[in-house]
Amino acid sequence: VLGALGLWFGAPIAWLLGGALAYIARLLFHLHRLQSWLQDSRHTPAPTFSGLLGRIALDVHRLNQGSRNRKKRFKKALERFQQSTAALPDATVIIGRQGEVEWWNPAAERLLGLRRPNDVGRRISNLVRHPAFVRRLDTRDWTEPLTLPSPVDDNAWITVMIVGATKGKRLFHARDSTRVHQLEQMRSDFVANVSHELRTPLTVMGGYVESLLELPQAHREPFNRALPQIHQQTRRMQGLVTDLLLLSHLELDQKRQRLEPIAIFPMLKQIREQAVELSGAGGHRIALDADARLGLVGNASELQSAFSNLVFNAVRYTPNGGDVRIAWFFDPQGAHFLVQDTGIGIDPHHIPRLTERFYRADVGRSRESGGTGLGLAIVKHVLHRHDGELSVTSDLGQGSTFICHFPHHHFVWVDPEPVPCEEETATVALE
Ligand code: ADP
Repeated sequence: VLGALGLWFGAPIAWLLGGALAYIARLLFHLHRLQSWLQDSRHTPAPTFSGLLGRIALDVHRLNQGSRNRKKRFKKALERFQQSTAALPDATVIIGRQGEVEWWNPAAERLLGLRRPNDVGRRISNLVRHPAFVRRLDTRDWTEPLTLPSPVDDNAWITVMIVGATKGKRLFHARDSTRVHQLEQMRSDFVANVSHELRTPLTVMGGYVESLLELPQAHREPFNRALPQIHQQTRRMQGLVTDLLLLSHLELDQKRQRLEPIAIFPMLKQIREQAVELSGAGGHRIALDADARLGLVGNASELQSAFSNLVFNAVRYTPNGGDVRIAWFFDPQGAHFLVQDTGIGIDPHHIPRLTERFYRADVGRSRESGGTGLGLAIVKHVLHRHDGELSVTSDLGQGSTFICHFPHHHFVWVDPEPVPCEEETATVALE
């Protein structure tokens, strides 16, 4: 149109140039309006544009609308999440990559004493300082929850767990387990008290039965058959009471007193001698192969109980003439106590439950050999108190291997006893 008008007035170039300038000026004006609107496009309605700019403004408007809706939905989901976690009786804490506390629900303030804003960004290990928790944080093994004294109340207990969340974050979960702990305590106290009360009458009965057994046979008629059985059963009950008391002590005495460096080799020599005695006419070949320098920091009587339970089991569950190998050694993973036998073996499906109290893979054999059903439960508790672990492998009819693994921080070097023939070597083998 401008070209035609320019031709009419005899100056087409000037008219075209003027028109182009006017168009550019209008475009710049609208671009400026668009830019001003874009700066605050989320909160002000879009001005009307024609043509291309109109379409751009419409697209931006639609994008804003979509993002607004998404934000609303996200906000609602967040509110719902916060409302439900606020209603939870359990503490939930979000932990960042470096173990720093990022967010927590109201229950965490009650159970763990977290306070805003001071505790935001503090490391969880500074808020829950129990050594067992700090150790678990390092090992990152959260297959089992952990029960600890509450960090804010001396009479309360909490059970904690950490699960992985996304992007290196983790979710710390804590539950008030005071009631369960009290019930456990009551159960342990009850078992300990009953066992303690039974001990004296059993000792008296056992004493009388032993005196009666010393009488000439003619004087004990008609109880000649019954007395040895009464004696055997009394001994069994005494063993049961002793094991129950030991288990209660291991459970109740959470603080590990009397931790000291212990020379393990002399202990194992003594256990081997007792095992030979237990085997009696059974003629088991019992070999001991031990590093005489290698000791453990721990409780001697507890370790003696655990090790002897494993060795005596090997003898009791191995037919006469079989082999039992006892070994005590270390490697890069730590120190290890191994007992291997060529006995009756254990069906694999029993293995995960063997350390439960009174669990028996072979009930008849266990009773017959005077087992209390508590030996491996004692082993498990003792190892737990020494940060150790038990591993069991077995082939039915072929034999079993029980290994106690101890971490590095529990073993020490001790002065070996003088060994007459093998002074040069640290490892001592007794056959
Ligand atoms: P028990 O006093 O019955 O031996 P334990 O707790 O010591 O109780 O052992 C639990 C069960 O594990 C036993 O009843 C037995 O069935 C099985 N067991 C333990 N050690 C061995 C072993 N060396 N060989 C075969 N079975 C074993």
